[in-house]
Formats: sequence, structure tokens, C-alpha cells
Amino acid sequence: MENEPVVTIITDPAFNRHDTGGGEHPETPERLQVINERLAEGHLAKRIRRLPTRPATRAQLLAFHTEGWLFRFEEAVLSGRTYIDHPDNQVCYESYDIATLSAGSGLVGVDAVEQAPGSVVFCQTRPPGHHAEPNQPYGFCFFNNCVIAARYWQQQYNRRRVCVFDFDAHHGNGIQTAFEEEPETAYVSIHEHPSFSYPGTGWAEDKGIGAGKGTILNLPLSPGAGPEQVLRLFPKIRSFLDLVQPEVLIVGAGFDAHREDDMSGLAFTVDLYRQLGVFVMELARDYTEGRLLSILEGGYCLEKLGSCVEAYLSGLVEKDA
Ligand SMILES: [Zn+2]
Repeated sequence: MENEPVVTIITDPAFNRHDTGGGEHPETPERLQVINERLAEGHLAKRIRRLPTRPATRAQLLAFHTEGWLFRFEEAVLSGRTYIDHPDNQVCYESYDIATLSAGSGLVGVDAVEQAPGSVVFCQTRPPGHHAEPNQPYGFCFFNNCVIAARYWQQQYNRRRVCVFDFDAHHGNGIQTAFEEEPETAYVSIHEHPSFSYPGTGWAEDKGIGAGKGTILNLPLSPGAGPEQVLRLFPKIRSFLDLVQPEVLIVGAGFDAHREDDMSGLAFTVDLYRQLGVFVMELARDYTEGRLLSILEGGYCLEKLGSCVEAYLSGLVEKDA
């Protein structure tokens, strides 16, 4: 057992206190609970070690977000608002602090990867991040966890060439905003086609702007797409990494493309998430010397989310050494 690889999960009970008002809102604390339950029962249970998170500092948040957004977010929650800008973005009194902790989990994750490249590190976090823009919340997201982790990796470890691979059902508009004009950062996303799906961005034609031309790869899928269509994209993703030559890989791991998840029309299976795990660990081996960090994004089908996460982690471990 001692030689078996460890799965490091960065999480915090405080994430349960980001209260989205109950009722109809899909981004609930139960999401993390069902993941915990599944992992506790499954074959990975003995290999998991959990690390606590830490709050991202103001400077770390400002590496992507504006001062204006930080003030507006904090003021909104302290004044008792229940949502910001749109009812999707439900908040409670503690949401600012908890979003800061959620962003911090990526920083703990980066440190863990740097200490043990090639290992499996997963931030089991909420609120999610990839829709958050510099100056506004969007689609349940307040701080852009993937981008904040990317900036930290660049600044703390001088790994300039960061690639984010996002397989959430939705396009990570905030990540594209962060990276599209830069030559060193890259973003590849598979998502349901913007004609059919929130947030309406992620067109294949968007490939980056100016110095960032060629650093964005959007791979939209038609409604109903499943394993066959996704596996066909793997060579394209490899060719893209050949071009951008990343030093580190961050995965926006969302699980709302599962066929039973109401948040998309895609038809991913539990086993496809295992295959995605195998694939991204191979990418990390081939391109980034094992420097790979996965951060939870969406996933709202409480009956399937735990199995999807477990399958993804199993795929990562399969290729781990
Ligand atoms: Zn999503």
C-alpha cells in the first residue's frame, strides 16, 4: 500500500457555508457531500490525503480581478444581498470569504504539485470559477479559480507557459478573457456549442487576439455528443499542446456534461471521465513533466457527480506512477 500513489484533495468544510438559498439553485453544498460519500466508499479511499485550503490574498485575487469587483462583492454580501447582478449568483453573508478560500485551494494545489510533480492533485472546491470575469460574477462563479492559480504559478514559480484544459459542459468565458491576448498562456475548452448553451461564448472561430493569436482552442460539441465525439478531439488537443508547449497544465474539471445532468444537452458517461483522466495525465507526462492540477468546476447531477469525479481521479491514478 505504501508505494501506491496518493491522491491529494484540497478541500474545506467551510465551502458548505456558501449558501445559495436552497430551493431551485443547483450549485449547492450537497455537491461536495456526494463527492465525499462516493470517494469514502470507493477503491480510492485509502489513497486519499486531504489538505486544507488557505485564503487567496488580495494581491493574488487582483492578479485577475479588479479592485472595483472586490469592493462590490464584499459590500454586497455584508449588506445582506442575496444575489449579485443576476439570481444565478446567489450569495450569503460569508460568500466573499468562502470564494476567497475557494480561490486559495488552487494555490495550495499549485504548491502541492510543485512538491510532487506527477502526482494527482484535485481541488474539490466551490463556488466554481471559470465564468467569473475581472469585474463581475457570472454563472455561479465569483473568483476565477483556474486563472488565479495560473497567475500564482507564473509569479511564484516562474512557470510562464500555462495551459488550462477545461472539459466542463460550458465554455469558460472568464479564462478566455484572461488569456486571449497573451502569447504565454493557452486555453483549450470542450463544451456544448454556444448556439445551444450558456454562456454563448466559445466559438471555434475565436483563436486569440493580437499577440495571443493561436493560444485559444475552442472545441464546441453538438447537443447529444458523447464519448465517440470527445475521443475524436484528443489528437487535436495534442496538436495544440505541441504548438503552445506548456510548462504546466491546469484542468477545469466540470462534470455537468454527464448525460443525466440537466445543465447541458451533452451525453458524457462516467467512463468517459475516466478516459479524460487517463488522457490528461498522459498530456502532463508528455508536455509538463507531470505538473498537473485539476480544479472542480460544474457538475450538478447529485446522483452521478460522485461517480464522475471518482472515475476521473481513477483515470489520473491509472497513469500515475
Ligand atoms: Zn458548467
